[in-house]
Amino acid sequence: MTWFRNLLTTSTIKSSIKSKTLINPYRKFIFTSLTHFSSESAATTTTETKSPYTPTYSGLEPTKPGEKPRVVVLGTGWAASRLMKGINTDIYDVVCVSPRNHMVFTPLLASTCVGTLEFRSVAEPIGRIQPAISKAPGSYFFLANCKGVDADNHMIHCETVTESLDTLNPWKFKVSYDKLVIASGAEASTFGIHGVKDHAIFLREVAHAQEIRRKLLLNLMLSDVPGITEDEKRRLLHCVVIGGGPTGVEFSGELSDFILKDVHERYAHVKDYIHVTLIEANEILSSFDVRLRDYATKQLTKSGVRLVRGIVKDVQPQKIILNDGTEVPYGLLVWSTGVGPSSFVKATEFQKSPGGRIGVDEWLRVPSVQDVYSIGDCCGFLESTGKPVLPALAQVAERQGKYLAHLLNKIGKNGGGRANSAKDMELGGPFVYRHLGSMATVGRYKALVDLRQSKDAKGVSIAGFSSWFIWRSAYLTRVVSWRNRFYVAVNWATTFVFGRDISRI
Ligand SMILES: Cc1cc2nc3c(=O)[nH]c(=O)nc-3n(C[C@H](O)[C@H](O)[C@H](O)COP(=O)(O)OP(=O)(O)OC[C@H]3O[C@@H](n4cnc5c(N)ncnc54)[C@H](O)[C@@H]3O)c2cc1C
Repeated sequence: MTWFRNLLTTSTIKSSIKSKTLINPYRKFIFTSLTHFSSESAATTTTETKSPYTPTYSGLEPTKPGEKPRVVVLGTGWAASRLMKGINTDIYDVVCVSPRNHMVFTPLLASTCVGTLEFRSVAEPIGRIQPAISKAPGSYFFLANCKGVDADNHMIHCETVTESLDTLNPWKFKVSYDKLVIASGAEASTFGIHGVKDHAIFLREVAHAQEIRRKLLLNLMLSDVPGITEDEKRRLLHCVVIGGGPTGVEFSGELSDFILKDVHERYAHVKDYIHVTLIEANEILSSFDVRLRDYATKQLTKSGVRLVRGIVKDVQPQKIILNDGTEVPYGLLVWSTGVGPSSFVKATEFQKSPGGRIGVDEWLRVPSVQDVYSIGDCCGFLESTGKPVLPALAQVAERQGKYLAHLLNKIGKNGGGRANSAKDMELGGPFVYRHLGSMATVGRYKALVDLRQSKDAKGVSIAGFSSWFIWRSAYLTRVVSWRNRFYVAVNWATTFVFGRDISRI
């Protein structure tokens, strides 16, 4: 990352060096210009660039004989992290491109929204998962979005993430690959409903959980100041969750726990005004066993969560409108209605699976091009494979990452690591997915464990305190590092003894 740090430093004095040519001491990087790209040049570069050596903007050149082949990985989610953990860095250099530098342990994200867990307990820096990207000479992590894939030239086009830092405008660069793994995940579905993106908070990233926590605590405090009308107080403290899948249910359970324990104790003045409503078009937890669904419905209702069957038609700044015309005022609106293909995935020219994900064959290759693979929520089996598109789950993403790491290591060991060198290679067994079951918490030390392999299969399904214990133990063992496992255990113990953290930092 030295070159990138150099870039950051130099770009702060960009006015004085505009249009100069700068050769980076690290021989792989040739900066032809530090002029930041205008949107016009951005529009032209992706279509114009046909050769990896075109000096339009800087980048990582194709690997040369004597260097390790380069695996470029897009994303730092479940799939990408598992892949990078398993990749043999004696064989490959690894370059990871992602707009975030950490993996999010999503099953515990809902717990951070109300302070049961701290944010850092669910975020694992990618440099700890694959240390080579922080120190090996040819391996890097680039904080950027991939904007396009030029599969003919084995190259990707990227743009830095600067999050409105005024020291650096978004910067474009390109990276050549020997193998490319697209693990860029999916995006929250809004079904094109007006106002969702502007007014609702999604629950997918740590930043979303932070926003939810800040807003929840802000509303609690605002509702207690003099002059607030009864109606306004009720609106501010009405938390509405859209989507009754596992994430929506778990978040509602966490919120109701927070209200029953912490709000009743520490915001006693407003405790009777705060409510949670969960709106779902169909049944909640539709993929779970019917007995578990009934159990969840009872538990949530007992905890004070209002379950509403409805379809959202419009989202306005302080209220949502349902299809039947009902108006629901809210102070906090959390949107959790499943995922669909991201705009990046939609824009790629690869053949798509049913549902619009990047289409892959049984070995997770994108079959129309050489050396491109895809794993996790962004990919699905092509119709021609005869296999169904797998659900958007961490357990699918993780196992695909593990499988592909083994496959790439095997290809590399057999001399197929370089671009276009594994064409006729025997790959061995295809990726096979076996569902291990689903779990969800519903609050008040209760959870559901459904060990059936599919929605219609028979199998064990249990609910209650024992399931909650299984849920906690299972996720504690799945947390990626010992450091975070320790944080999670300490957070749980601290919350149990002292209550949740309600400071609005
Ligand atoms: C709150 C929550 C709870 C969940 N609970 C469970 C659970 O209990 N069990 C379960 O099995 N599943 C659960 N899931 C689903 C699970 O998290 C996803 O299926 C899983 O994260 C998919 O992994 P992935 O690697 O494909 O994508 P992600 O984990 O979403 O990672 C995608 C990565 O790609 C990066 N990226 C995006 N666009 C680009 C781009 N253009 N260029 C480069 N990088 C890009 C992103 O920043 C991110 O790092 C949950 C999801 C959420 C949101």
